[in-house]
Amino acid sequence: MDCIFCKIANGEIPATKVYEDDTVLAFNDLEPQAPSHILVIPKAHIASAADIAPENSAVISHIFEVIAKIAKDNNFNDGFRVVNNCGDSAGQTVKHIHFHLMAGRDFTWPAG
Ligand code: 5GP
Ligand code: ZN
Repeated sequence: MDCIFCKIANGEIPATKVYEDDTVLAFNDLEPQAPSHILVIPKAHIASAADIAPENSAVISHIFEVIAKIAKDNNFNDGFRVVNNCGDSAGQTVKHIHFHLMAGRDFTWPAG
């Protein structure tokens, strides 16, 4: 499968890693939209949030534990935003589920 985030997870494509364990990887976004812009992914391929099911959902709760840890370790004390784009009309360009963790500026709501 030609998936760039699978390739980042297995080391074929380099990335600046922020956190890694057996099932989750976090790395800096190539085109940051905030002073801190980190992508948090499961190492195993899940195409999108629409593909979360009982068999694969444990890693998603673990991702949110990792997000809380990254936020604490990086002093995102003023707040942070977590975004998941699911599907074409939501702007998902990489079809391997990922959560954008952004911090370091104010964010507007609702997101465009
Ligand atoms: P999406 O639009 O699918 O929600 O987000 C995809 C994100 O992946 C974008 O913010 C884009 O900048 C980032 N991205 C795409 N290719 C690469 C890459 O090769 N390396 C890194 N670090 N980020 C990437
Ligand atoms: Zn993948």
